[in-house]
Amino acid sequence: MALSFLDQWLIRRMKWPDATVPPTSEEVRDWQCHRLRDVVVHARANSPFYARHLSDIDPSASCSMSDFSHLPMMTPDDVRNGPEQLLCVSQDEIFRVVTLQSSGTTGPPKRIFHTEDDLEATVDYFGWGMSNLVESGQTALVLMPGDRPGGVGKLLMDALTRTGARAVAHGVMENSDAALDHCLNEGADCIVGSAAHVNMLACAWEKRGLPKDRIRSVLLCWDVTPIAIVRNVERALGCQVFRHWGMIETGLGGAVECSPGSGLHLRETDVFMEIIDPESGELVPDGTFGEMVVTTPLRRGMPLIRYRTGDMGRILTGLCRCGSPLRRLDPLVYRMGDGVDIGSGLLTLRELNEALYIVPGLEDFSVSFNDRVLSFRVCGNDAGLLQRVQLAMEHIPVVGQSIVSGALEISININRNGTPAVPGLGKRRIQID
Ligand SMILES: [Zn+2]
Repeated sequence: MALSFLDQWLIRRMKWPDATVPPTSEEVRDWQCHRLRDVVVHARANSPFYARHLSDIDPSASCSMSDFSHLPMMTPDDVRNGPEQLLCVSQDEIFRVVTLQSSGTTGPPKRIFHTEDDLEATVDYFGWGMSNLVESGQTALVLMPGDRPGGVGKLLMDALTRTGARAVAHGVMENSDAALDHCLNEGADCIVGSAAHVNMLACAWEKRGLPKDRIRSVLLCWDVTPIAIVRNVERALGCQVFRHWGMIETGLGGAVECSPGSGLHLRETDVFMEIIDPESGELVPDGTFGEMVVTTPLRRGMPLIRYRTGDMGRILTGLCRCGSPLRRLDPLVYRMGDGVDIGSGLLTLRELNEALYIVPGLEDFSVSFNDRVLSFRVCGNDAGLLQRVQLAMEHIPVVGQSIVSGALEISININRNGTPAVPGLGKRRIQID
């Protein structure tokens, strides 16, 4: 059987001696165990933060997976409050610093330091991951800026170019019709973008009655990927939809699907994933949702060790049909605390995403909550859209109950000009006013 692209990547990244047979899951685990120990020793010896944080660790002792899971965890505040303290190399070896102002958080932005090796590893991973979606000579339209050094768009463009594909950066999508024109003019075979933006493009595609055999594949990345949007894009474009998960903190590429619906194969060499009970901090079994905690075993500049992401996810049980030893992340990843109490209980962004992106004619939405009013800005221009959104909201039990009890009102504004409901590439959330 021919090796999958991801397994070919894994063999190279692990420097696995047999180029024809990938390692087993156990062999990957054993390899990870050694790399985790290496990064702990390296970080403790070279970074002021880790020297303090891991001061109780005996660097000469062996480190099993169980030992590792008892090391202290770190939080986004550790990164925010003193990123230089995490550095394990001199500033001269830092190639790019990416600044990350998380929406909804106050205080200093996170600054993530990348070495040249870190960025090269991400470009290499993106290239192998994209090989499932686009062939040499084909064109990929990227709905992100392609010129920000160290940015996801630029790294992706570099990766696609390296595989022989033609990469076209559209920039941040500001209007779905303009993006669709660009897509058609460039003869794109593949589209890469956030779920919300690709959804708008797919709506514009459907409205123009364009054929379903022109786009070969889509990659949804950057933010959460509602199932409703995956279905919309599959229906409108008639193509395969792959999902990706990643974080700037871990060097972007984190997990990608080998084929639609298969689950996201983790980039196990570079992003070691643990899932914990957020209350107790204990590991949970595969198949159970918990907080995602990540470690970057191969980063030498600014490694993260047991970093609490604040995202909830789970590892899928069993092996993928493709036979890869890489564990799989459930595509359903969501922010902890993405909900808001609306009177009769908690309403989450993922409930809203799944309830609203299936409403005919709805292209995008944003939502805010203020005291007792849930306010929507809805993009679309169908007659009757307002009533359909109202009805879809009332069908969410907690919303219906809150309205009946008088605790909640809904306000809906329709925007018909084809611009996304949330400007830029900000992560979607329920805005609390
Ligand atoms: Zn697979």
